[in-house]
Amino acid sequence: MTQDKQKIAIIGSGVAGLAAAVRLAARGHQVSVFEKNAFPGGKLSEIRAGNYRFDAGPSLFTMPQWVDELYEMVGMEASDHFNYHRLDTLCKYYWENGKELEFYADLDKTGKVISQKFGEAPDALHRYLSKSRKKYKLAGEIFLKKPLNQLNTWFNRDVAKALTYIFGYDLFRSMDKTNKSAFKSPELIQLFNRYSTYNGSDPYRSSGMFSMIPHIEMDMGAWAPEGGMIAITKSLHDLGIKLGVKYHFNSEATKILHNNNSVTGLKVNGEKYDFDIVVSNMDISLTYEKLLSEIKMPKSIKYEERSSSGFIFYWGIKGEFPELDVHNIIFSSDYKAEFDAIRNNKIPDNPTIYINVTSKYHPPDAPEGCENWFVMINTPSDTGQDWSKVREMLRKKITSKLSEILDRDIKSLIEIEEVLDPTSIASRTLSADGALYGSSSNSMWAAFLRHSNKHTKIKGLYLCGGSVHPGGGIPLCLSSARIVDDLIHQDLSKS
Ligand SMILES: Cc1cc2nc3c(=O)[nH]c(=O)nc-3n(C[C@H](O)[C@H](O)[C@H](O)COP(=O)(O)OP(=O)(O)OC[C@H]3O[C@@H](n4cnc5c(N)ncnc54)[C@H](O)[C@@H]3O)c2cc1C
Repeated sequence: MTQDKQKIAIIGSGVAGLAAAVRLAARGHQVSVFEKNAFPGGKLSEIRAGNYRFDAGPSLFTMPQWVDELYEMVGMEASDHFNYHRLDTLCKYYWENGKELEFYADLDKTGKVISQKFGEAPDALHRYLSKSRKKYKLAGEIFLKKPLNQLNTWFNRDVAKALTYIFGYDLFRSMDKTNKSAFKSPELIQLFNRYSTYNGSDPYRSSGMFSMIPHIEMDMGAWAPEGGMIAITKSLHDLGIKLGVKYHFNSEATKILHNNNSVTGLKVNGEKYDFDIVVSNMDISLTYEKLLSEIKMPKSIKYEERSSSGFIFYWGIKGEFPELDVHNIIFSSDYKAEFDAIRNNKIPDNPTIYINVTSKYHPPDAPEGCENWFVMINTPSDTGQDWSKVREMLRKKITSKLSEILDRDIKSLIEIEEVLDPTSIASRTLSADGALYGSSSNSMWAAFLRHSNKHTKIKGLYLCGGSVHPGGGIPLCLSSARIVDDLIHQDLSKS
């Protein structure tokens, strides 16, 4: 490899693949993206049904500056192409005991409400968030923005400073125990336990280190992209086109070609193409299984526990619910039982329900007087469950619970229904068993055991996306694209 323009193939146009394409094309390389679907975005895509539009996967947008960064990098003003606004309410919470909480972006206001309604100390929220902020600043920033398998990631002043706080990260106790030490009301403990699910994990097993996630949402903000979440995909795809990226849709890569030492190209739809560098945005276990079957899959990938998956109903609702916000949670009364069921590959008896309504901030997503509901529950990944039976069972349970909480007959208001279950998530985005975030982060060291962004045996092969370091979710996927870009250019400068 030389510093000259390289011929680079990217497998997959998930958000990480799109961002990697932008970064590499911005450096002047010749970039081709091969996507098996007819559309870009992978999980970050959309579903249209009747007169409704739904974001298919992600609904919560944090760290928008990492999208802006891609425009700034090429000297463009992000706001000329991609806009978003901060949500005043992060989430509306409902409990079966009748308690409700509107979690405002204004944290002083929320702190007062949780003290009045839940008997927490007036400064409990601020104390929690100041720890959360410290964890993110000391450890999160190092870990999320750098490659894992490089000595200079680990031996430097920032890491030395971070290590002085090692017992403050709550690395060695669970998220649940961490939250129990900060709040006394079961509702607030449950609310903060929920942040483990942001990477598909179980709050009773995953490390309290993830209590840094609330800092990202509560201090840094939850945002709504103009046009819905799909605007992220559209804007990155358009930016790539402007920079000369060639997108090939309906093009499934079936083999990464190499000479046992270096990448030589890619086989797509039965044709061989020469490339200097290949970046796989495909799920890591499927990259090994389908595209590199001659190479032994690392044990940490082969035997890893999958992250949770989800069952999603996309409902066109003939009616308006002013009491709902953009993000809404109806908690189950026994959160532990819910995660125990998922751990045992079962569908929880009484699942927590998440409802996202983008027509609240983007009215064209539903006809007048109607709302587009994205209704999701956490499930295990696919291990052969009968998902059509699950669909009927869940529809009944969810409509009955929502009718009770919202005091209206929900079933009669559903005029459109589409669903995604773990098997359709798997086939739509080629995710192993439909897991939403690759591997789970249920063990204390799981975050450090994710596959690195550069293949150690095959020169010229790099990996990005939610199933590799630093993990799933839009911001981390964008970070993986940044790490891959840095690694490629470090390697090119050495050759
Ligand atoms: C229901 C749901 C809700 C979520 N909620 C949130 C949220 O609120 N906030 C958040 O930040 N994140 C959320 N996530 C997670 C987030 O969507 C993912 O972490 C992220 O979008 C994954 O992006 P990726 O780059 O890994 O690629 P993916 O989205 O996994 O896409 C990979 C792409 O590669 C293509 N591909 C795979 N193999 C091949 C091949 N051999 N040849 C050609 N193409 C191939 C696939 O077709 C796909 O388009 C959610 C995910 C889901 C499914």
